[in-house]
Amino acid sequence: MENVIIVGTGCAGLTAALYTARANLNPLVIEGKQPGGQLTTTSEVENFPGWPDGIDGFSLMDNLRKQAARFGTRFENNLIESVDFSGQTKILAGGDKTYEARTVIISTGASPRLLGLESEQKLFGTGGVSTCATCDGAFYRNMDVVVVGGGDSACEEALFLTRFASKVSLIHRRDELRASKIMADRTLANKKIEMCWNSVVSEIEGADDHAVSGVTIINVKSGEEKTIPCKGAFIAIGHIPNTQAFSNAIRTDENGYFLSENGSHVKTNVEGVYVAGDCMDHVYRQAITAAGMGCQAAIEAERWLAERE
Ligand code: NAP
Repeated sequence: MENVIIVGTGCAGLTAALYTARANLNPLVIEGKQPGGQLTTTSEVENFPGWPDGIDGFSLMDNLRKQAARFGTRFENNLIESVDFSGQTKILAGGDKTYEARTVIISTGASPRLLGLESEQKLFGTGGVSTCATCDGAFYRNMDVVVVGGGDSACEEALFLTRFASKVSLIHRRDELRASKIMADRTLANKKIEMCWNSVVSEIEGADDHAVSGVTIINVKSGEEKTIPCKGAFIAIGHIPNTQAFSNAIRTDENGYFLSENGSHVKTNVEGVYVAGDCMDHVYRQAITAAGMGCQAAIEAERWLAERE
């Protein structure tokens, strides 16, 4: 039986691996569909402490993985599909394999919801389509960008982008923002933000040249179509936490995010099972906050095991 199984290899999972490995717990990490997590899809990471010149997302995650491996972390590629946490031994199953562990750290992240256009896929990352203004906004100094969405995330992204961009067009499919009143008021009052109401994106232009050149929208009321010239397109239509495989055992909120319980960010309703990163955090969603939670979860798992020795 494993001391600790960590599911997911984003910042949270790999930091948990580093800490549990250094605590001599010999962790097993299960890598899912996207080894390295969301950061591997961003170009340059300029806000991770310790990298004054920035670092590309892939290298950051590769370094973290090597650092965890150096202290004995073992990695296995598999997708966990179901769990049974009803007994002392935690059971996880994926493919034709079953794993048993004394403690589990779930750090499966969240996937940004996307529009589902082919051009969006082609231009994602270095092509100019992004789901993270905090990560990529600074690349659009004095350029026009668009943001798609009408919730708090879209407003937050649009407001953040006004620090760099010359103009931010906010495209929303209805005529009223879903965002909280304070965010909506701030957004509507910002002179750099131009609202495109009742509009859906039909195409992101520039796929042939591998760089966004505009976004074509259709007004759902009038049927009018137009292209907004821009260099960046930020999609902020929500996230889907990757929690489905665990939802029979670990409590989630109405949006599917794991709930923190028992007085700690990282504890759950099941003793010995911890959560960290974007699968439980829809507020901060940063690499450094995920890493911090991975560290907390590792320390909790280590203490829990020590108390039962
Ligand atoms: P959200 O509240 O679910 O909003 C998603 C937005 O995207 C909605 O306006 C929705 O339109 C639109 N949308 C969804 N699917 C779409 C599609 N296929 N095409 C076009 N538009 C689409 O998601 P969120 O903004 O990421 O927020 C998630 C949670 O985190 C919320 O509880 C939010 O309050 C919280 N949050 C808080 C803060 C903060 O307090 N600073 C910041 C970010 C997030 P409709 O409105 O028409 O449904």
